[in-house]
Amino acid sequence: MSKFLDERYSSLAAYVPGEQPQDKKYIKLNTNESPYPPSPETFAAVNVNETENLRLYPDPDGRVLTKKLADCYGVESENIFLANGSDDILNFAFMAYGANGRKSYFADITYGFYSVFANLHGSDYTVIPLEDDFTIDADKFCGVDGCVFIANPNAPTGLALSLAEIERIISTNPENVVVIDEAYVDFGAESAVSLVKKYDNLLVVQTFSKSRSMAGARLGFAIGNKEIIGDLHKLRYSTNPYNINRITLAAGAACIDSQNYYDDNCKKIINTRAYTTNELEKLGFSVLPSKANFVFAQSDRIDGGELYLKLKEKGVLVRHFTSGRIKNFNRITIGTPEQMAVFIEKTKEILEDK
Ligand SMILES: *Cc1c(COP(=O)(O)O)cnc(C)c1O
Repeated sequence: MSKFLDERYSSLAAYVPGEQPQDKKYIKLNTNESPYPPSPETFAAVNVNETENLRLYPDPDGRVLTKKLADCYGVESENIFLANGSDDILNFAFMAYGANGRKSYFADITYGFYSVFANLHGSDYTVIPLEDDFTIDADKFCGVDGCVFIANPNAPTGLALSLAEIERIISTNPENVVVIDEAYVDFGAESAVSLVKKYDNLLVVQTFSKSRSMAGARLGFAIGNKEIIGDLHKLRYSTNPYNINRITLAAGAACIDSQNYYDDNCKKIINTRAYTTNELEKLGFSVLPSKANFVFAQSDRIDGGELYLKLKEKGVLVRHFTSGRIKNFNRITIGTPEQMAVFIEKTKEILEDK
């Protein structure tokens, strides 16, 4: 840190992304990427023409992709906001609704970026503890006096709230924005998109990074009332109007045109999740019932940190969190059936060697 840094940022703890090691080829089950490549249509969209067009700025409103998303989700273009990954949107949402001493609420165990953005923007934030079984008690988020951030399904637990519970949180906070982060919704949870027409305080955030195999392209979108979407555009135009590059816009549009391909991938991942859960349970693990493309598991037979390290030695990367209540858990991304068979095999070996 230099002596020049604004003191507001001197104690800021930045987000720590999952490791992306370069030392050897791992079976990567640590950052919830898709194990499947983008669709053939997506490959075709990233072509010579689009590369030639890189000399031109992209459409700052991403109109082609915005229209496709609006049609896909049954809303109008004015209800859609595009950004450079959904992290970009969460940043804007904290900036718009929870900054400079305004209040915000999120769970104690949830996506790690919420507290980072809250600190970055000087939010007066409150963390609401999950229950002992790691579920969210929706009532604790009802009628609070600040904006609410909920990942549904939650990360890293994979547990989801029902649409009725989500609606209760939205309807009891009419004076505050409720952000539902649906990064993993395509793997089996109920989306709140259908509530956008009914509530003017709802912002649903989704991403192309998980179910649509485009983590490397950086593309997220939000769906909400047009005034809220307008707020986000105002902040975006005050930061970087060209926040999504041409290649990503083209790839994103092709993605929506090949939605069946991605729906099939989600089905495969849901099946592989059932297989993985079952195999882990046979080995004595307890596995939270996941609606995401990962499972969160622990065993009394081995310490979570030890399992993580031994798997890494054997070429399998999973995500281990060191904080309090979840330090015995690992979060394991669902890969292909072949990758998960290797993961289970290595886990078995590690347990047998103990
Ligand atoms: C992965 C993830 C995101 C961020 O996704 P990007 O679109 O890649 O920025 C947001 N929220 C949750 C809960 C996530 O797990």
